[in-house]
Amino acid sequence: MKVLRTVAELRQWSREERKGGNTVGLVPTMGALHAGHASLIRAAKAECGKVAVSVFVNPTQFGPNEDYAVYPRTFDVDCALAEAHGADVVFAPTVEELYPAGATTFVEVEGLSSRLDGASRPGHFRGVATVVSKLLIAAEPDRAFFGQKDAAQVAVLRRMVTDLRFAAEIVVCPIVRESDGLALSSRNRYLSPAERTQALALSRIIHQTEALFAAGERSTGALIEAARVAFSAAPEIRVDYIELVDWATLEPGPTAAPGNLFAVAAWVGATRLIDNTILG
Ligand code: AMP
Repeated sequence: MKVLRTVAELRQWSREERKGGNTVGLVPTMGALHAGHASLIRAAKAECGKVAVSVFVNPTQFGPNEDYAVYPRTFDVDCALAEAHGADVVFAPTVEELYPAGATTFVEVEGLSSRLDGASRPGHFRGVATVVSKLLIAAEPDRAFFGQKDAAQVAVLRRMVTDLRFAAEIVVCPIVRESDGLALSSRNRYLSPAERTQALALSRIIHQTEALFAAGERSTGALIEAARVAFSAAPEIRVDYIELVDWATLEPGPTAAPGNLFAVAAWVGATRLIDNTILG
């Protein structure tokens, strides 16, 4: 497996592979890879001849008081995991490579970017849309693989790929969970053992909402209120949002329908966690 550091190297690799008859899959990540990332890499390998995994902690998607400086960086382990699951290339640029000195160009997906995580993390989706654009322009993939774990991000990127007529197809992979339900996240390693237990409230509430929906509850207000009540039984957790929205527009409606996104974000100690389900 090759490690590439520059956009020019990645573009040349991708073009050569495509000229040779391969399709190219791209798996964007911020590193600190876990089994959730591994599932994306395996999906990419199953659908594409060659797979590039990007490992880049993107400064522009972090707010000023967020965890950019301390975000886990485990590059050697990441490379071993990526290779073990079928990556052909790891793309690991420097910040200066993706943001040349004096860079002032950003991609803004209006409207969607201020919903859900975008509401509590101003500028977050602008950073995500910008870096994913740069990666799509550099790698020219046939398909790019993202996790449903970041469901609002998926909505933003689908809109962006449509609006900018990117050639890449967006593929969304299911949420990978621990056996007790906790959605895998690079930030789970911030949790103390006590917080790790408290964090189970998120997946419990996701499951509860799925069960209420399956039992026929269709009132958005009732489903959100039931989740709020369940969170109040876990007072050590601070809810950021509980949302039930159309997955494409991220707009709420009075009635829940199959395909809608139910998503939660909550602070467990100093760690902000997210989880979601697509209803039905
Ligand atoms: P990150 O490194 O956190 O930016 O995530 C890179 C990609 O992996 C994103 O598309 C995430 O949605 C995806 N991902 C993160 N956690 C999981 C998970 N538990 N299951 C599936 N995909 C995930």
